[in-house]
Amino acid sequence: MSALAPSRIVLLGAPGAGKGTVAKVIKSELGLAHLSTGDMLRSAVKEGTPVGTQAKTFMDRGALVPDDVMVALIEERVSDADCKGTKGDVQFLLDGFPRTLPQADALADRGLGPHKVIYLNVPKEVVVARLSGRRTCLGCGTPYHIEHRPPQKAGVCDVCASELVHRSDDHETPIRKRLDAYQQMTAPLVGHYQDVLETIDGNQPPEVVANSVLYAIGASS
Ligand code: AMP
Repeated sequence: MSALAPSRIVLLGAPGAGKGTVAKVIKSELGLAHLSTGDMLRSAVKEGTPVGTQAKTFMDRGALVPDDVMVALIEERVSDADCKGTKGDVQFLLDGFPRTLPQADALADRGLGPHKVIYLNVPKEVVVARLSGRRTCLGCGTPYHIEHRPPQKAGVCDVCASELVHRSDDHETPIRKRLDAYQQMTAPLVGHYQDVLETIDGNQPPEVVANSVLYAIGASS
């Protein structure tokens, strides 16, 4: 990684804005550990841990998991070896955290504020269409779309051949609730991070979004 590249990046945007896809692009360019709180919680649910059991009731109805649970989860995760830079500094690519002002404050209080926040701006109706048609691989998490990006074989992941599922929160009612939660609790972070914010039009073809993101993090000209 270049000495000037940001080493703590936050991806901000509504559910379905494309944060996971952009995370892959940044990770392959900068090699930062990708911390997706949604993925972490889904693993915890699958494993039946106490955090997973508690989180599931919120996730299934499209509500946010309480801040103290999320902050504890991230605090533990950033102490892992893959979040350590060569000088002992903490590095990460956060996807889905922070989602509230108290979560952003918790990062700042620990001296872990982001150097760059990539905000993916996508109209509400576009994300509703993306999420309701989304199917997700149970094995590797690769997202598909029933119309725009179908797998080669129905219901089976092209990458790892695991089963594709329609996530319980990717149905109309929880989608609307997640977007309401985003509007009320997460959208204020756009203003909060204005000094380090890069706004990207996320309603463009994936390769155009990827190039804009690489430019924003200083990885292309
Ligand atoms: P995602 O895959 O990022 O859309 O997250 C799925 C669900 O996990 C969300 O709808 C929330 O219920 C929960 N979640 C993920 N990250 C957070 C967070 N930072 N704060 C609160 N809830 C979260």
